[in-house]
Amino acid sequence: MADSSNQDFDVDETLRDVRRCLEDLLAFEGRYFIVPPASLALAPVDSDTPAAVVEADDGGSLESFQQQICDCLRCPLGQTRKNFVFGSGNPGADIMFVGEAPGEHEDRQGLPFVGPAGELLTKIIGAMKLSREEVYICNVLKCRPPNNRDPQPDEVASCEPYLQRQIELVRPRIICCLGRHAAHALLKTDSSLGRLRGRLHQYQGTPLVVTYHPAALLHNPSYKRDTWEDMKWLRKLHDGTEL
Ligand code: SF4
Repeated sequence: MADSSNQDFDVDETLRDVRRCLEDLLAFEGRYFIVPPASLALAPVDSDTPAAVVEADDGGSLESFQQQICDCLRCPLGQTRKNFVFGSGNPGADIMFVGEAPGEHEDRQGLPFVGPAGELLTKIIGAMKLSREEVYICNVLKCRPPNNRDPQPDEVASCEPYLQRQIELVRPRIICCLGRHAAHALLKTDSSLGRLRGRLHQYQGTPLVVTYHPAALLHNPSYKRDTWEDMKWLRKLHDGTEL
């Protein structure tokens, strides 16, 4: 009798996956890094639970703010996006991750960090003994730049007030900038990532740390170890937890 169990088995692909997992295990010291697929499930936009709406001091909410700006055309990216990508996660999160802009997967789904870089971010958050449901994740730009090019200064200037308002509404205890573009936007600096990492910054009174963008880790896995050190520091700063 023919054995059909291996019909779809790709040995090379499986070996690549195993190698990637082993590299991640080393880079992240084995902390929660090889995780069951179920725990990688992306957090839905949490609009139905009581925690979904957090009233800010001025009576605003993330949900109503999203509704106000979701048809934005303040910069040319509004003409080329498939979907506006506001943010996801706990609207009352203590930790807020800020990336630079949606990519192809995010543009298609209307959610931040849902492609390969997003899967890696989910793993990193898991390694920190947290979940995507506990943190808040967004980008500086809410619309995808064509071909994932870098955000342009005028686009950042147009969109940045939206990020500022999100931070006001979420009121995180600590912000983590993923990559130099987010750090440059919030810190008003053009310093290199190397100079920004490992220092405790402030954004309008909120502590802010900077680490690599997960996409950079996909291109340069050697950055994973430094990223893990940043994340251990972030967790310790946040609540004293030693990872
Ligand atoms: S990127 Fe920002 S400013 Fe530009 S259209 Fe989108 S939401 Fe508006």
